[in-house]
Amino acid sequence: MNDLLPDHSPAWQYLERQLRSLVDRYDYREIRTPIVEQTGLFARSIGEATDVVEKEMYTFDDRNGESLTLRPENTASVVRAALEHGLLHNQTQRLWYMGPMFRYERPQKGRYRQFHQIGIEAYGMTGPDIDAEIILLSARLWRQLGMAEHVTLELNSLGTPQARADYRQALVDYFETHRDVLDEDSERRLASNPLRILDSKNPAMAEMLDAAPRLMDHLDDESRDHFERLKATLDAAGIGYRINPRLVRGLDYYSRTVFEWTTTALGSQGTVCGGGRYDGLVEQLGGKPVPAVGFAIGLERLMLLLETLELIPEQAKGGADAYLLAMGDDAERQALMVGERLRDALPDLRLQVHCGGGSFKSQMRRADRSGAALALILGEDEIRDGTLTLKPLRGDGEQETLDIDTTVTRLRSAIDADTRD
Ligand code: ATP
Ligand code: MG
Repeated sequence: MNDLLPDHSPAWQYLERQLRSLVDRYDYREIRTPIVEQTGLFARSIGEATDVVEKEMYTFDDRNGESLTLRPENTASVVRAALEHGLLHNQTQRLWYMGPMFRYERPQKGRYRQFHQIGIEAYGMTGPDIDAEIILLSARLWRQLGMAEHVTLELNSLGTPQARADYRQALVDYFETHRDVLDEDSERRLASNPLRILDSKNPAMAEMLDAAPRLMDHLDDESRDHFERLKATLDAAGIGYRINPRLVRGLDYYSRTVFEWTTTALGSQGTVCGGGRYDGLVEQLGGKPVPAVGFAIGLERLMLLLETLELIPEQAKGGADAYLLAMGDDAERQALMVGERLRDALPDLRLQVHCGGGSFKSQMRRADRSGAALALILGEDEIRDGTLTLKPLRGDGEQETLDIDTTVTRLRSAIDADTRD
């Protein structure tokens, strides 16, 4: 679990601003649910035989002896909340969430025990158009962040539960004849969750898996049609993709469309975004059947990628516009008030006022460390004349003494020139 320290938080705030503006542009609405739920909710939705439920959940009994779990993902909670508050009754919903998730995994680069996701979820729409919309939304995000050429869309269809059951049998038969190649994990999954074997990254099994029967060949007609129409929309929108017949995703509730955006720039933790359709989930959790589709983006991985590709804009890194320092008793007494006047006049100004006194030299050193572009000096002369001395801390501008109004004008144009995203 990571601490987020002040040097790094501006980059996160930049990313969060980008994400919020993106979901706004598609008119998705935010939903916030608690970070704990009853354990049964996750077992029933994600599936008993998944890695997440089998070994990754933070589960504990509360003081009443009720079993609670820190959410390992947010879709189950969103469905629970939507059912509880009647959000799915004869209506469509376009929702998004952002926040921490918890999984007891082996920590490594791009994989943590507390991590963050932004997810979007669309309820009540059956057709492939909404699948395409959320993929277009994600593609726009990569463009917005300047990283479109570093991610690849992988696409598959899991068909209906019935088609998957037929396929499951074909797959088990195939694996039975290749038992000698199966590793221990896969051996175990053969009975509980054979589809997950396809997802194995074990190179010793790669050849055998490549030759395995394909779910694509077992699709029901409606799922096939859905998939074809989705591909046609993506083609028309100019979104490239790669069909990956082994893409099954780690959670049991998916049906029909599944997709991932992957990158090769992060080593083995290459999945930045994963999603798909989960038409059966609402009913599974006690509601009337409501079709649904969504995805989740792992923010730590996205951040790692942005940093690796050096895509965090310089101005997103923060720092004050100006640092006000004061020399002499009178000036020290008035510095905070001068600071307030400047903030009254300039709501966007980021200003630090020096506190704690000290020599001119030590105050200038702090001004420099603050990252501010400009030092504002308030001394005895300035107090007497109603002025401030402006000393550029970056670049090679000249020091000038200006009245307060002119200082305000000067600061305003400095702020405007600094195009904040
Ligand atoms: P993976 O195959 O990488 O374990 P997953 O199938 O478990 O991913 P999902 O549950 O679909 O992933 O979560 C969506 C995204 O959340 C992942 O693609 C990834 O970017 C991120 N994610 C999942 N688990 C972690 C983790 N432990 N630490 C950081 N990010 C994670
Ligand atoms: Mg996982």
